[in-house]
Amino acid sequence: MSNFIPEKWDLETDVVVLGTGGAALVAAVTAAEEGAKVIALEKTHQIGGTTAFSGGVTWIPVNRYMKDAGIEDSEEAAIKYIERLSQGRGESPMIKRFVEKGHEMIDFLYEKTPTHFKMPAAYPEYYAHLEEALKINISEWNEPESVIFALKGMSDNFKGGGHFKAHTIDDNNTTMEGHLDITAGGAMGPMVNTILKNFVPKTAEELTANIVNKLIEINK
Ligand SMILES: Cc1cc2nc3c(=O)[nH]c(=O)nc-3n(C[C@H](O)[C@H](O)[C@H](O)COP(=O)(O)OP(=O)(O)OC[C@H]3O[C@@H](n4cnc5c(N)ncnc54)[C@H](O)[C@@H]3O)c2cc1C
Repeated sequence: MSNFIPEKWDLETDVVVLGTGGAALVAAVTAAEEGAKVIALEKTHQIGGTTAFSGGVTWIPVNRYMKDAGIEDSEEAAIKYIERLSQGRGESPMIKRFVEKGHEMIDFLYEKTPTHFKMPAAYPEYYAHLEEALKINISEWNEPESVIFALKGMSDNFKGGGHFKAHTIDDNNTTMEGHLDITAGGAMGPMVNTILKNFVPKTAEELTANIVNKLIEINK
């Protein structure tokens, strides 16, 4: 292989970035900002890669735009959310790194480049039923048979509530009733509510079954 290395290069640089999608160009700008001489090489006839075709929506927890809008977010909730969605198949150090450092990339682009993002006024939360996406405020807890709660989304666009009630049939049998109700507001509300109609009943059923299983486990 070393036989093919020329004695004199046509072009010398500190960093060669292959590709011109979002990942490559952010890497190129970062290296350039650090003082390196950079070239980006693209194998196709146009720059941008898949990124140029994409919707351009970037999911970065604890970002500056949410902070400015007064929306609370937490690294812990984001890590839990990704770990649950990846069903244990994600690599924890990588997830942690993404959550802890992703917003630094957004800050870097904001401060050093013309690439400024905008926070959408409303966007569907695909997994609104997960506890990290919703805040659950228990309004009434009558041990042992009933819990009434109110739901509030990470943004004001999701609201709802529900209850779980245990009905004793006899000494050995109890039935559990679960009710869940989630409504999306904002500009995307009508569309999101159509989607919610399909999954909220199933989610209520799953949640109720989970509570039943937990109770059986505790009472063993
Ligand atoms: C229709 C659509 C909508 C999407 N919307 C979203 C969205 O809203 N939000 C979201 O998060 N994700 C979205 N995605 C996914 C997202 O676009 C990709 O995950 C992301 O763009 C990948 O970025 P990247 O920089 O890793 O790769 P790419 O953007 O694909 O860039 C790779 C680049 O490398 C070049 N390349 C490859 N090999 C070489 C080589 N040997 N030498 C030189 N160049 C090379 C390629 O030609 C390409 O330009 C969407 C995808 C599609 C298709």
